[in-house]
Amino acid sequence: MSADSPSTVSSRPCPLCGKPANHDFRPFCSRGCRDRDLHNWFDEDYRIPVTPGADEGDDAPGGFGEARDDG
Ligand SMILES: [Zn+2]
Repeated sequence: MSADSPSTVSSRPCPLCGKPANHDFRPFCSRGCRDRDLHNWFDEDYRIPVTPGADEGDDAPGGFGEARDDG
């Protein structure tokens, strides 16, 4: 009763929503889920400890560029 299935049918459900994965977007079920996962990755990448405004303080982390001669 099932329509023609592509090569192999993945039995693994979408890791995001749990729907049956799509052959084109494995292991996700759709591009939406795949994109979302991608965003998650980017999100984590962007989660660097950045301190806006507190850059010109004497609380330097130390290490990189210690000897900065100004002119
Ligand atoms: Zn999904």
